Amino acid sequence: MLDKSQALLERAQKTIPGGVNSPVRAFKGVGGTPPFIKRAEGAYIFDEDNNKYIDFVLSWGPAILGHANPEIVAAAQHAVAMGSSFGAPTAAEIDIAEMIVARVPGLDRVRMVSSGTEACMSAIRVARGVKSREKIIKFSGCYHGHADSFLIAAGSGAMTLGLPNSPGVTRGTAQDTLIAQFNNIESVRALIDANPDQVAAVILEPVCGNTGCIPPQDDFLKKLRALCTEKDVALIIDEVMTGFRVARGGAVERYGVKPDLYCFGKVIGGGFPMAAYGGTHEMMSQVAPDGPIYQAGTLSGNPVAVAAGIAALKQLDAEAYDLLEARGAQLEAGFQKIIDANGYPLSQHRVGSMFTLFFHPGPIRNHEDVKSCDLERFNHFFHAMLKRGVYLAPSQFEAGFLSTAHTPEIIDEVLEKAEAALAEVF
Ligand code: PMP
Repeated sequence: MLDKSQALLERAQKTIPGGVNSPVRAFKGVGGTPPFIKRAEGAYIFDEDNNKYIDFVLSWGPAILGHANPEIVAAAQHAVAMGSSFGAPTAAEIDIAEMIVARVPGLDRVRMVSSGTEACMSAIRVARGVKSREKIIKFSGCYHGHADSFLIAAGSGAMTLGLPNSPGVTRGTAQDTLIAQFNNIESVRALIDANPDQVAAVILEPVCGNTGCIPPQDDFLKKLRALCTEKDVALIIDEVMTGFRVARGGAVERYGVKPDLYCFGKVIGGGFPMAAYGGTHEMMSQVAPDGPIYQAGTLSGNPVAVAAGIAALKQLDAEAYDLLEARGAQLEAGFQKIIDANGYPLSQHRVGSMFTLFFHPGPIRNHEDVKSCDLERFNHFFHAMLKRGVYLAPSQFEAGFLSTAHTPEIIDEVLEKAEAALAEVF
């Protein structure tokens, strides 16, 4: 029963576009009424009609320690009582910068911002400024936020709504974003060669999340690193989703590759609006006020978000990543057992605590493969799970997330429900 949510949706639509503050929340792809969430705790979210769901969206990634994690709550409460924003430097900002730099291989300096969009937008500005070139290469299906340069062949909500290119993005901007294919190094080389001395940067999600979870295959990241070095193009790894999730030091640690610039978000804010970009000394020394490349923010390094982020990172030790890996492996093995026992035409990818069940027999190597999934059946499955109390991302073009609060018992319960839901769908 979603009566209260339906009434709220109708009320919201009068003052908010689509009734939501970010498009994917409207359930346009899967249809139906989105539950309006009242509160969340651990692995669970509760809606206004008092329905309880096991949550695999986790605020789209940040809640890696489960919702309302007591240490994050305490840290944020303490910080907010001290004053929620000063617009002046604080000691805690240095603490979090040092923590991030210490964890992430190859990262020298970092600048805090308030959203993943800002982080990615700023990183490409730095790359363009340092290289004195204007074009960037991104991959179809990768999402780097809603800055103009990225809304070309973008994944996530833009894809779900069939709007990978948005009106309002100028032709000039669109011309400066070249599109390559994930896991296809030759597609990148061809673009760089066709635009000699014009490409400032290649930006990518090291593990795709915004077109479903797709790992880099056949040393794709290492090949990309070598190609960028050879062509003097900056490599930007967007770890907004993967950072501090797929390993303690993010995907760069997991796959052993060092970019020139990094983008972070989600997990580092502990559920508050915080993100960051950073890179090598060479790159970051050009950022204002040290250098001429301008970037700023009223709420950048916000004390409440910083306190929450520090509380999150402190808990994310080696043990936490072992636990996330074990839970992910349990879910993956369970799904595979169901697929094999029933001969369902499904495949899956998982990297640590990021996963997607594709309505496609595979292989899934990139966005082009995901587009041929059975989206209608996915939508049916999504609703079959929702009515059983499992909240999955409302699109095939999204990844699912696990938290440390998802116990083995919760995962067994989800697998039982998935088996029943799939039997209903096929
Ligand atoms: N980059 C990636 C890889 C993301 O997944 C997202 C958000 N899903 C962003 C950038 C944009 O972050 P935000 O929504 O905080 O602007």
